Amino acid sequence: MSNAEASLEHLIRVFTKPEHKESTLSQIEQHLSDNLSDFLSRHVVAKQTSLEEIEQDFNDPHLPLQPEFVSTHAETLLSKLVANSVNTYAPTFIGHMTSALPYFHLSLAKLLVGLNQNLVKIETSKAFTPLERQVLGMMHHLVYAQDDAFYTQHLHSAEHSLGAFCSGGTVANITALWVARNAKLAAKQGFKGVSHSGLAAAYRAYDINNLGLICSKRGHYSLGKAVDLLGIGRANILQASVDSHTLNPQEVLALGREYQAQGNDLLAIVGIAGTTETGHIDPLDELADVAEALGCWFHVDAAWGGATLFSDTHKHLLKGIERADSITLDAHKQMYVPMGAGMTLFKDPAISASVRHHAQYILRKGSKDLGSTTLEGSRNGMAMMVYSSLHVLGKSGYQLLIDQSIAKAKLFANMITAHPDFELITEPTLSLLTYRYNPQSIQLALSEGNLDQVAINEHLDILTKGIQKQQREAGKSFVSRTRLGIGKYNNQCLTVFRVVIANPLTTVEHLSDILAEQHHIARTHSDHAVLQALVSTSV
Ligand SMILES: *Cc1c(COP(=O)(O)O)cnc(C)c1O
Repeated sequence: MSNAEASLEHLIRVFTKPEHKESTLSQIEQHLSDNLSDFLSRHVVAKQTSLEEIEQDFNDPHLPLQPEFVSTHAETLLSKLVANSVNTYAPTFIGHMTSALPYFHLSLAKLLVGLNQNLVKIETSKAFTPLERQVLGMMHHLVYAQDDAFYTQHLHSAEHSLGAFCSGGTVANITALWVARNAKLAAKQGFKGVSHSGLAAAYRAYDINNLGLICSKRGHYSLGKAVDLLGIGRANILQASVDSHTLNPQEVLALGREYQAQGNDLLAIVGIAGTTETGHIDPLDELADVAEALGCWFHVDAAWGGATLFSDTHKHLLKGIERADSITLDAHKQMYVPMGAGMTLFKDPAISASVRHHAQYILRKGSKDLGSTTLEGSRNGMAMMVYSSLHVLGKSGYQLLIDQSIAKAKLFANMITAHPDFELITEPTLSLLTYRYNPQSIQLALSEGNLDQVAINEHLDILTKGIQKQQREAGKSFVSRTRLGIGKYNNQCLTVFRVVIANPLTTVEHLSDILAEQHHIARTHSDHAVLQALVSTSV
């Protein structure tokens, strides 16, 4: 029997009465908490189901008319949804920033739903609001390390925010640039501020043609969304080149001066602490100088790399981050918190006043409701996950995690360099690296300039793409791929494998197996023969 009775009694049971222990959902719950990895390996089966086939399972636009028993529905979830999910917990899943999580988050997730607090206002989140403020304070302290008096004054102040908690790096970047925009185009004599009067009036009042944002080509696409939403316009993102994968401060300064000389002004310079594609870190200290010279906001997108600050071994890589006006952090990346945990931090706790909003029924003046300065409205208590992680792992625990990821990435880079048929494309600064399959004979011929470099690279691109897809489809392991302009090849755009080492359970053996699997796929791939033929005719 799959249909339940559509009675009020049944619905009330759904809200209140736990299903008896034998029900499918309770079994799933039990299995998940007893042995997550067993649950995943049993139910998330690496089947070769195509996306099109899966779409057939989710193809019905009609609403279910009758209620269903939870157990019946749980069976459907297992077979249609769980079975075809991606096992991001697998230690051989090293292609993205999403990875395994510490087990206690499963129980915390239940607690979160059990309490269902809404952090938009204190009336629905009495203890969670101070907790979130403390979490922001702890992260603020990690970056800016102000004295205790500073935190006593600002941590719980109704007029100040050390940052804003949000769903992720994208919203964090948007929030930071929103605050920056409103601070730049603030109210003054005869003008009520951009927040009140809009961008056209603001540009007139400040006598500028446009506001621009400088970042590198490796800037995250969320910056494009941010300037789009804020009305600045995507055409006013000035992308500086990235010869050695990071911004060149002199070039940024020249670019900014030229833009300002054309009757424009600068909203911000965005430095990246850990680019999404390669993990490189812009020279933050020098960029802070440039932002000062140009009189603009300095934002650091540390969504990925921010957690490096936990490591006394590696935090020097982020030198200068403490000079940023605002910083983006993603706890759901290297802090191993479930998705939905981003943060913006502000150097100046009073700056959030530029976006402060009040309403009659909540967010009243003088209230400590977080919703008065966050972009999002209703929000859950993800800050608890960050709070608990910080306590359970501790700073020293995070340091170990960060250090071992970077060490493993360096080891993997050495394995690639030592292998005759692979070419390391970008070295790991943090725990990201890129490389490609490139057989020894071709590497040699390319370096001697005997071949049509552009054509060979294009064929290597096809092969790299083929290997990556075949490896993904085989389902044993996963690396991602991207395209990067590479200086060594006159900035030709190359398709490369991209590896993100995040899962602490990934071992050197896993890495060596992944490389061996790629080598095997390459050797037997049809494009390999095409490549060989091309080389033998052109030598
Ligand atoms: C992941 C990432 C983002 C976006 O974060 P989401 O949480 O996916 O919204 C922004 N910038 C950088 C550098 C990132 O790595």
